[in-house]
Amino acid sequence: MDDGDRPVVVSTGIAMTGQNVAFLLVLVVAVSFFSYSIQRALRTLRVGLPEQRLDAPGRRTWNLLTIGFAQSKILRERGAGVSHAAVFWGFLVLTAGTAEILLQGVWPGFGYEHLLPRPLWQLFMLSQEVFAVIVLAAVSWLLWRRLVAPPKRLQGEEIHSTEAVIILGVIAALMVTLFTTGAFEYVAREGVRATHFGWFRPIATALGGAFGALSLGTAETLRDVSWWAHALLVLGFLNFLPYGKHFHVVNSLINVWFSNTSGPGTVGAMKPMDLEAEVESFGASDVEQLTWKNLLDGYACTECGRCTAACPANITGKVLSPRKIVTDTRDRLREKAPYVVGELDVEGSAEAMRLAPGAQAVLDNRLLDNWITEAELWACTSCRACVQECPVSIDQLEIINELRRALVLNESRFPEEVLPTFESLERNGSPWAFSPADRAQWAEGLDIPTMAEKLERGERPEILFWVGCMGSFDDRAKKITVAFARILQAANVDFAILGQEETCHGDPARRLGNEYLYQVLAKGTIETLDRYEVKTIVTFCPHCFHQMGNEFPQLGGNYEVIHHSTYIERLLEANLVPLQTEHGKRLTMAYHDSCYLGRYNDVYDAPRETLRRALPVVNLVEPARTKSRGLCCGAGGGRMFIDEKEGKRINIERTEELVATGAETIAVACPFCMTMMVDGVAKLEADVNVLDISEVVAAQLDPAHERAPLVAGD
Ligand code: SF4
Ligand code: SF4
Repeated sequence: MDDGDRPVVVSTGIAMTGQNVAFLLVLVVAVSFFSYSIQRALRTLRVGLPEQRLDAPGRRTWNLLTIGFAQSKILRERGAGVSHAAVFWGFLVLTAGTAEILLQGVWPGFGYEHLLPRPLWQLFMLSQEVFAVIVLAAVSWLLWRRLVAPPKRLQGEEIHSTEAVIILGVIAALMVTLFTTGAFEYVAREGVRATHFGWFRPIATALGGAFGALSLGTAETLRDVSWWAHALLVLGFLNFLPYGKHFHVVNSLINVWFSNTSGPGTVGAMKPMDLEAEVESFGASDVEQLTWKNLLDGYACTECGRCTAACPANITGKVLSPRKIVTDTRDRLREKAPYVVGELDVEGSAEAMRLAPGAQAVLDNRLLDNWITEAELWACTSCRACVQECPVSIDQLEIINELRRALVLNESRFPEEVLPTFESLERNGSPWAFSPADRAQWAEGLDIPTMAEKLERGERPEILFWVGCMGSFDDRAKKITVAFARILQAANVDFAILGQEETCHGDPARRLGNEYLYQVLAKGTIETLDRYEVKTIVTFCPHCFHQMGNEFPQLGGNYEVIHHSTYIERLLEANLVPLQTEHGKRLTMAYHDSCYLGRYNDVYDAPRETLRRALPVVNLVEPARTKSRGLCCGAGGGRMFIDEKEGKRINIERTEELVATGAETIAVACPFCMTMMVDGVAKLEADVNVLDISEVVAAQLDPAHERAPLVAGD
């Protein structure tokens, strides 16, 4: 671009050719339009509610480095993950070369060779070609996969496959034109090839050698054509981004920095809600009631479908696809934003648009019902598999939760089976219609003190054993309660229960969208706990564990809450649990991860370690989906109280997977998982035991050291 036509001397002193002037015009138009498009898109985020996200800069930056730049989440999947990471890293490296190419278009003779020491410049040139080859190979594989053998997650109505193919094609063309420009340059610059070509430009040098028969003039023309094609593809690609799903190229790193998992607060905690606030409605039924961050999530979505592929509801044939939740939010924003913020705040434009033909229909629509249906929302088990898998840290579940809140609090719309649950929570302080007076029946004759009794004796127990509604009323779960109490007693732990003073803390109501009922119940529980000045709570229910440990602080309840898997492991580690030394035959066992213990609280090792310590002969096997990839049992998110009518039952899918390991026993660490696994095993007529980890430990207790054999609940 620095020779071939007559130079024009501009005021900068740089001698520009006609081509340079033409390119300068193209560049100014392209950059201006790109800047306009970005501003226009970002202003649509103003439709959303404000939210402070500038705190915890250190943690946010760490996430940006690990998830964003190091691509840690995308690499969870081999094959496609490596290819996408290669394209991303390739783009980072090639951006420096692209900047040089664009500058050469307006600045004849510009080149990093004049700025860098020669060895460094040679390395830079080598990096450009190496990464261009890597990107070309990765893109070719991704194209092949999308066109010839698309995985299930890349299929579906909500994805823009044609756009993806075009973009991959453009990226491939960018790499090809990068090589051809270098190759024709090699021929055209015959005189300088010794300094400009060599080992550090292997592709251009080799290709240039192949084109060696071309005349200098032809090579110059082809070089310019190739250069223009490359530069125009770069600028065209840039300007296409804000209008399609590939806007994620611009937004994904920003989204990772602002993500829920980057900020303060606790991972998985539902957003606090001010019920006293003077608002017309609660939750979200349209994009204006979501936050700007929920809306940014839509622009960051790559439509990769990793979330949908991990979603237990989707896997078992339900209508829910977390990817669709996000893309629907994005598309609804794009549909509605022009009528709300106007075309970029031009005075009166929003009003004018509202009067435009078709405007009323758009304004009469809303995200809830017109885009996302009730059936999709109620299919969610709140397992967080989608959030875990998303490579750009989108929180699909937050949108689902906000829409559920709107359904329940504003419109009293919920599955009919949920009504008795709400009523029972209100009347009995438990999701089931049991009498509160029976709550501590399981403890009769077991010499287990209540907090009130302890207080009467002037004692404060070391820990409060929070039993939970399942552990108090469900016949199968009561056996877990007793098993855990036996362990505590055998280890001489100073503990007490609340007995009849324990009530549901409201978690099921919160997950089902009934924030009002949740707050009544949660505040009541906090009042009771504070009355007894409780500091440490141990529970075997991961839902109680998560709720009291991670969400109670929103309402002023601050306690150390420990799940029994961690607590028992600590007791075993400290040799405080008297165990038999005879273990019988080797037992093959598969542990099922509870979502609220694993993905919500990162507790994966403690239950496994507890099993190994208590039963050294155990052969622990892992199902196909395990730990952070474990499949939900189907009971979370209030699904325990809703009939599963659509598709295959989630607990059957999960039980099949666990039974397929060949395990004789399925171990769980959650009473809800217990119910689902017991049901699954019964339906499959499998000859497999289901035990809570505390039952495994209790079975190993040395009878000689037990204070008294506990038999209640058997
Ligand atoms: S939380 Fe679980 S069930 Fe709900 S959308 Fe995400 S993956 Fe699906
Ligand atoms: S929400 Fe995340 S995981 Fe799901 S399709 Fe979008 S980018 Fe992929």
